[in-house]
Amino acid sequence: MGRTIGYVKAVDDINITLYQGETFGLVGESGSGKSTVGRTILRLHDKTAGEIRFQGKDLYALSPQELRQLRPKMQLIFQDPYSSLNPRIRVGDAIGEALLDHKLVPKDKIREVVTEVLTSCGLSAYHYDRFPHEFSGGQRQRIGIARALALNPELIIADEPVSALDVSIQAQIINLFKKLQVSRGLTYLFISHDLSVVEHLCDRIGVMYLGSMVEMGTRDDLFLRPLHPYTKALLSAVPIPIPKLKRERIVLKGDIPSPMNPPSGCKFHTRCPFAVERCSSEIPLFREIEQGHHVACHLV
Ligand code: SF4
Ligand code: MG
Repeated sequence: MGRTIGYVKAVDDINITLYQGETFGLVGESGSGKSTVGRTILRLHDKTAGEIRFQGKDLYALSPQELRQLRPKMQLIFQDPYSSLNPRIRVGDAIGEALLDHKLVPKDKIREVVTEVLTSCGLSAYHYDRFPHEFSGGQRQRIGIARALALNPELIIADEPVSALDVSIQAQIINLFKKLQVSRGLTYLFISHDLSVVEHLCDRIGVMYLGSMVEMGTRDDLFLRPLHPYTKALLSAVPIPIPKLKRERIVLKGDIPSPMNPPSGCKFHTRCPFAVERCSSEIPLFREIEQGHHVACHLV
């Protein structure tokens, strides 16, 4: 593993160490707390306990000025970049604004730098002077990525960045993420409810359920040797062609309970097909089962 770039201990004792240049996928249904983890890392959220480190610095101990300096290094990409684009501002100017804001590029160089970043995201100089409504969904996500990238970040937190797109467009955007990672040495925290999306992109994956991490490991750990019943259920619901792997279909009972009032013991026990008596009273520890492969389940 490479150099540690970030470390997060946020929602309910979740520990994630991010290594430089890797893609860490955070997976779970909506309400599982995965976006909260992302936002806590960026200090868009106040954490209640724990610790977030980025490049060795405790983010919550920084002064506003220090935080401002660090901000460009950590960028967030949303599911719907359109909602964060001002409809009356030309796309190139919107991207340039952030650069000016952070005094990263002199004013007379903005067009050049923004055009370069648009181009690296599969757009072109032509798109600089267009308005957000002139773009398709996939192109808008390219703009969202370009805007994040313009600040020359090291860590990108992408929260469901392809969920709103058609499958064919999803693949293009995922390929763009991959390409940019290689050319720029980026580290990604990739948040998604969709395992088939993270499968193509992530080196390591964490599965969350109601604010807790239930399993974490390499992509192969999760896809070939899943241990937690929730991970198995998520996997069994997506058609991923791994021929050697015979997967039993696990259908979960009911909906995800409210995160405000989670079940006792193992939070998953109300839906787990394998639950035994102790599951409703005893919280399973999140333990390392094999190297780098962690799981929280009494039966493992
Ligand atoms: Fe299911 Fe019990 Fe394991 Fe929780 S601890 S996942 S309820 S078997
Ligand atoms: Mg979310």
